[in-house]
Amino acid sequence: MTFQELQKFIKISDERLRKYFDGLEDTEKRTLARTVKLTEEVGELAAEVLAHHNWQRQEKMNKHSHKDLNHEFADVIITTFLLADVMQVNLEKAVRDKIKKIERRYKDK
Ligand SMILES: [Mg+2]
Repeated sequence: MTFQELQKFIKISDERLRKYFDGLEDTEKRTLARTVKLTEEVGELAAEVLAHHNWQRQEKMNKHSHKDLNHEFADVIITTFLLADVMQVNLEKAVRDKIKKIERRYKDK
């Protein structure tokens, strides 16, 4: 999947979410809601990382599957893109620029 394909999905998801949840037409509320949602998804990913290493209670371990870890990584990426979209951040450019910066940092090391 390319950045463009993901961006297309994000636009469709944004429209769906705005219809589904009242009050998300306001940009500031949408930014806040998506920031909170991203925090939630990072927490879910953290829980799956713990389970991956068998560091969760047995009740949680009984429900755990490797698929959940993959889904939570995807949730973090999708939610990050939704937040970037509402804040008009071009993530493809941001990642490209950041990679260049990191490459320069380690160029002579
Ligand atoms: Mg999740």
